[in-house]
Amino acid sequence: MLPKQRILGAPVYQPGKPIDDVKREFGLTEVIKLASNENPFGCSPKAKEAIAAQLDTLAIYPDGASLMLRWELAEFLGVKPAQLIFGNGSDEVVQMIARAYLEQGTNTVMATPTFSQYRSNAIIEGAELIEVPLKNGVHDLEAMAAAINDQTRVVWVCNPNNPSGTIVTRDELEAFLQKVPKDVLVVLDEAYYEYVVDPAYPQTVPMLEHYPNLIILRTFSKIYGLAALRIGYGIASEEIVGHLDHVREPFNTNTLAQAAARAALQDQAFVEECRKRNREGMKQLTDRFDEWGLSYFPSQTNFVLVDLQQDSDAVFRKLLEQGIIVRSGRALGFPGYQRITVGSAEQNEKVLQALGSIVAGALK
Ligand SMILES: *Cc1c(COP(=O)(O)O)cnc(C)c1O
Repeated sequence: MLPKQRILGAPVYQPGKPIDDVKREFGLTEVIKLASNENPFGCSPKAKEAIAAQLDTLAIYPDGASLMLRWELAEFLGVKPAQLIFGNGSDEVVQMIARAYLEQGTNTVMATPTFSQYRSNAIIEGAELIEVPLKNGVHDLEAMAAAINDQTRVVWVCNPNNPSGTIVTRDELEAFLQKVPKDVLVVLDEAYYEYVVDPAYPQTVPMLEHYPNLIILRTFSKIYGLAALRIGYGIASEEIVGHLDHVREPFNTNTLAQAAARAALQDQAFVEECRKRNREGMKQLTDRFDEWGLSYFPSQTNFVLVDLQQDSDAVFRKLLEQGIIVRSGRALGFPGYQRITVGSAEQNEKVLQALGSIVAGALK
């Protein structure tokens, strides 16, 4: 077989280790997964009811345009229905953006380390990568603006950034957008939007009017707790949505996902409760890190990247043996660190117990 040469340069995605895998490998019955920034509180019960109500429609293709969800979400966000594009997860919207705007002879600007899918999709499309190192864990927007040239088509800003959890502020983003040429697409990936509590975080939907070269990405996978269903979306000008529609699969989001997303959107009390409990859990973790003198990046998400100053993969293995799955910092570009999803209070205590002995061991 002769595949396209450049796809071999695109890394195969390394997911968080599945729970069943760890149970079998280590002979454990209890395993907690704090590796993929999933919601430890599940999803709204209303979303489950909405799925159950669809079980007699499985023989019918989904609504390819996601009309009901489109109308309701447009009203919720205060945009026109034609300004929305839905994806099989926001991952698929990333793929559609790369497919529609990137090709050989073009380049794309992003931070490093950041969310891996911008890079993979750019490689697959044959675009040149311009990767700008984070500064203290934060996007260096000045350097990113300076890196843009005539061949740049897309700039990626992950806000908050995965894996560091940090944000760029409204003022920083505005100053950046003023420097970006009008024909360069700026992607604002806001997968953790609903978790953010810092008042300096930009509200970007109103910015679409002044900056028609923006697309905002959000998802139902994180705070809404619907990761298994794969549904996310982009908010942009009608022109950009029109471009993406040319590369979108006809039935890319499914009936169950659309129904669950509609119900989940109506249950903002659930979102509010999860945001609150997440901040409590974040404090539970970082208070202990402070006690131990560990440094970590200030996170506005439901995960925290902590510097254990020990071989990431070795610490990852030690935690696995105790039935705790986190994400080794090595693969994320932060050797010595672990990325830990904020869990329930009980899960957080378990991970702290396990980390406690590892930290104490290092001090001996
Ligand atoms: C989780 C995540 C996504 C992908 O979410 P899906 O909607 O599940 O595809 C996108 N961007 C970032 C930064 C993420 O962390």
